[in-house]
Amino acid sequence: MKKEEKKYFLDLLEKEKVKIFKNLSYAKEVLERGEKGIPTHIADYGTDEFEKDLELELSSSESKILEAINNAIKKITDGTYGICENCKKQISKERLKAIPYAKYCIKCQMEKEKT
Ligand SMILES: [Zn+2]
Repeated sequence: MKKEEKKYFLDLLEKEKVKIFKNLSYAKEVLERGEKGIPTHIADYGTDEFEKDLELELSSSESKILEAINNAIKKITDGTYGICENCKKQISKERLKAIPYAKYCIKCQMEKEKT
């Protein structure tokens, strides 16, 4: 994957993350109050205690997505992003654009859903 592509998907993943956090009342409260020391910039999410506090408020489906997002971000750093965890083939760019934190290619995802 090219450098520009990595940046593009990293951006998508950060946006997905913010989308989850924005639904939380705690995050809203803090951001509205503008507390000192709390990062309000998007890029600062996910690096400190703030995220840990927020995670407590997530529903199980939301925290699963968040976990998948964080995993995907790690994979971009590792250079393994976009590779299906099951068959090790490249996941299509179209699929990644729709679900940037997808772990499996469409074929494997369908197999998994069947079982
Ligand atoms: Zn696969």
